[in-house]
Amino acid sequence: MGFLRRHRKFIMYILCGVLATLINSGTYWLFNDIVFKNVDMSSNLYNVISTVIAWVLSVIVAFVTNKVLVFKSKSFRPMVLFSEGTSFILARLLTFLLDAGFMALFVQINLLDFAGGQHILKIASTLIVTLVNYFVSEFLVFRKKHVHHFARILMAEGVEYYACIPLSKCKITKPYLLYKNGIDKNANVIVMLFPYRTRVKAENLTAYASVKDYHAYVESLSDKLEKYIFRKHPTAQFKVFTDHSPIDEVHAACVSGLGFIGDNGLLINEKYSSFVFVGECITSLTPKQLGLAFADEEEMRTCLHCGLCKRACPAGCIDSDENGKDTSNKGVCLSAITQKKGELSSEEVELMLKNGSIWGCDVCQNVCPYTKNAKYTPIKYFIDSAITRLDMETLSSMSSEEFNSRPFAWRGPDTIKRNVIFWEEAKLKREKEEAERLLKEEEEKARRLEDELSKGEASSEANGEECQAEVLPSELEVTDEP
Ligand code: SF4
Ligand code: SF4
Repeated sequence: MGFLRRHRKFIMYILCGVLATLINSGTYWLFNDIVFKNVDMSSNLYNVISTVIAWVLSVIVAFVTNKVLVFKSKSFRPMVLFSEGTSFILARLLTFLLDAGFMALFVQINLLDFAGGQHILKIASTLIVTLVNYFVSEFLVFRKKHVHHFARILMAEGVEYYACIPLSKCKITKPYLLYKNGIDKNANVIVMLFPYRTRVKAENLTAYASVKDYHAYVESLSDKLEKYIFRKHPTAQFKVFTDHSPIDEVHAACVSGLGFIGDNGLLINEKYSSFVFVGECITSLTPKQLGLAFADEEEMRTCLHCGLCKRACPAGCIDSDENGKDTSNKGVCLSAITQKKGELSSEEVELMLKNGSIWGCDVCQNVCPYTKNAKYTPIKYFIDSAITRLDMETLSSMSSEEFNSRPFAWRGPDTIKRNVIFWEEAKLKREKEEAERLLKEEEEKARRLEDELSKGEASSEANGEECQAEVLPSELEVTDEP
């Protein structure tokens, strides 16, 4: 088993080679001996056509099996497929010439000039070609690009979307933070997205409120990145920000091609929809020093302006004027209502209970077409911390450390407790109403049954009298007999 595991790649390569050879021979036989058998053309021509078809088909099979099963090249982007495909075919053509040249040379110089000698030469040539093809595929065609350690840290943490832009392209909203951290205007920004939606669909919490606060996650990521950066570049400026940032983060994410702003006012990423947090590293290092390149200004998907979020918003606070300018009144967004301190008006409580979430609101995210095929987060921190609901029992069993790690903690315990109490009271009321409804239904059923029974009794009594009336004449008939 150990041997098989160690040499898996080469064994798979040989098996795929055998498959390609079988396909080559089988296709040649199919066309040469069957398909073209009764076709009116010279035997040389159909021999050549059959050989070409067989070669093309076997090279396609060899390419696909080598890519997927042997060298496990995962990208199927058209550019990658084109580059791998052309270099693979080119390599196969060159080794075909090598094979032909090898045979021609050694037959010419009469090497192994005895019966069967040519077969031995052919086997040797095939072995050489097989080895050359293997190494060309491994080191040229399907060569894995070197991944810089910086990118490796991000990938290990589940951060798949990141891009580099110059700070000059960003909107500076808090310049004092740049000054405080000694960052100058020539710095570069690596914008990162942290998807957070897990498979857990919490009963009364939004996706971001059901997982732990992302600030702690970003802090731990920042420690890992800083440790690496300052070891390699001790004099570099390097600082990770999230939320409390010197730049407009959503704008930076859009400029760097990581997403776009939807009519619901949220950043939407093509893979994770709007269920992403944004963070960024601001550094004096160049993209090259981090193994990155500046983000391309590629054409992006945009908001579909389908109006679904606007129609679904329970608070009616998504709107725009005829110029597309956002005229939403964020003050009435349900997410803001759930986070409001102090007392809520009866309308606000009603809205919160109708939506069912005691912290935040996901309605405009859930209805967005981009969410339909959105992926769940690969980030373990979020997956492991997701809770299914928040009630008083869960809340009171939380240690203060656990409570403080939750996204609702920043408002203090009173606000979330108030919402939980409203939700539990409403739940109890609903359960009581449901129990009463069921009881009523049962009573109604019992009453109907009783009615049916008493009707049945009455009709059988009436039937009994009718029967007696019917029997009497026949009795008379019997007594009349002699
Ligand atoms: S979060 Fe909810 S209330 Fe706020 S805009 Fe979106 S749908 Fe409307
Ligand atoms: S629901 Fe439609 S209009 Fe709203 S953000 Fe998504 S794509 Fe844009």
